[in-house]
Amino acid sequence: MVREMELRQGEVSVDMPSARDAGLVFIGRIRTPWTSRLATPRQGRHDGPVCRLEIFEPWVAAIKGVDFYSNLEVLYWLHQSRRDIVLQSPKNNGNTRGTFSLRSPVRPNPIGTSIVKLVGVEGNVILVRGLDCLDETPLIDVKPDRCEFTPLAPPQSGDFETE
Ligand code: SAM
Repeated sequence: MVREMELRQGEVSVDMPSARDAGLVFIGRIRTPWTSRLATPRQGRHDGPVCRLEIFEPWVAAIKGVDFYSNLEVLYWLHQSRRDIVLQSPKNNGNTRGTFSLRSPVRPNPIGTSIVKLVGVEGNVILVRGLDCLDETPLIDVKPDRCEFTPLAPPQSGDFETE
């Protein structure tokens, strides 16, 4: 459910386009200790509490190999966010910044990303530290952190292009 918030001084909202064209599939849900946005960290920390990425069927087989990496990139849908504010006042002081210059959860497509520390895998659950989302936040994707990942597939011509 999207909870509407009042605009702060200087903030600007727009009419949301009605067309929605990305057929996202939630692959699981994230279990965290936080049930209030105000108590949730602004950004996760690697010494923060262990959180659970509960993967739904039919995606559980896709966990294979995740434990090779110590850091993962997690993408999630900040489902309680408004999506229509283009100028925001993070400090609530009338000074505004454009949404694309912020990591605010309020954005046209409220996708959150975090680099998390892998704690372990237990069946269909990936245990991690470093999240900053509400309990029950829908999970979009899990990938190895790009710094640790070397492509397994052979390179393609674009890999050698320089300017
Ligand atoms: N680390 C992510 C990023 O940088 O993309 C998210 C950062 S965002 C600033 C984190 C904040 O989003 C939290 O402090 C909380 O206020 C809010 N939040 C967390 N989970 C949410 C959810 N499911 N729906 C709406 N807002 C959420």
